Amino acid sequence: MNPILEVEKVGRRFESPGLNPLIAVDGVSFKLASGETLGIVGESGCGKSTLARMVLKLLAVSAGRIRLDGADITDLPEAQMRPLRRGIQAVFQDPMSSLNPRMRVRDIVAEPMRAAGIDAATREARVREMLSIVGLPADAAERYPHAFSGGQRQRIAIARALASSPKLVVCDEATSALDVSVQAQVLNLLGELRTRYGLSMLFISHNLGAVRYIADRVAIMYLGRIVEIGPVGAIFDKPAHPYTEALIAAVPEPDPDLPIPEALLGEIPNARERPIGCHFHPRCPKAQDRCRVEDPALVAGNDGRQIRCHFPN
Ligand code: SF4
Repeated sequence: MNPILEVEKVGRRFESPGLNPLIAVDGVSFKLASGETLGIVGESGCGKSTLARMVLKLLAVSAGRIRLDGADITDLPEAQMRPLRRGIQAVFQDPMSSLNPRMRVRDIVAEPMRAAGIDAATREARVREMLSIVGLPADAAERYPHAFSGGQRQRIAIARALASSPKLVVCDEATSALDVSVQAQVLNLLGELRTRYGLSMLFISHNLGAVRYIADRVAIMYLGRIVEIGPVGAIFDKPAHPYTEALIAAVPEPDPDLPIPEALLGEIPNARERPIGCHFHPRCPKAQDRCRVEDPALVAGNDGRQIRCHFPN
């Protein structure tokens, strides 16, 4: 069976005259199986949201291929992509900016179905069903986004994302702007819906607790690259890469209320001037001479993970 999503050596660079290119994403590869959730974590600027935008085809890749359910969508023109968009939906951090304030909730939730050519009666029934499933009253359909709290607006965004029965949902910091108790409710809702519909999810977050709760596997990104990827339990219990270890040590009790500290191990280097050798060496407590000259490859470990480090734990 094809993976739902296949990301192969995907890269994205941003050029500015007179400056080194900013390498936001560099050679990222992973596969996402049907019903699987992959968490992607890392500090601000690690490339996780750029990666999400490329998967959603909101941003072109500079290199590599992206396949959705076996179909190569990398260079697909928008007209040919439109029918496939039904199969890939997104939930973003700020529901207020992703929901059109001048549209009623009914039309917001129905919009992806309309774009997919679903008839009006089916859309209407589906809007009612989805509002009920995400825990909103039926009369929510007649109101506008500003009439709801942040958590309720995120429920509207989830109803909209799931209304067209997608195969893949990309959640980009979907719970990060919410109060702690509301975050937990929205995470629980996403978990329930994933099980109910057999959804595959890319769950992008700087919040380790949320990723540990929701994901089957986790990819740790640093300066545009995956430095460790594997099963959530194995990686959180026994991180092999010094960067993963530092992230987890900084948040000893994974808790949705605790984001990655800003000042972890000093400043993150400029993505236009990535260090030679292992990009993590200036911040790595275990760096040795080899690390300053030789860039480590991502290699398989012994428990289903891959690690980019010359001296893993
Ligand atoms: Fe640290 Fe060296 Fe491993 Fe890089 S290769 S993470 S510098 S030990």
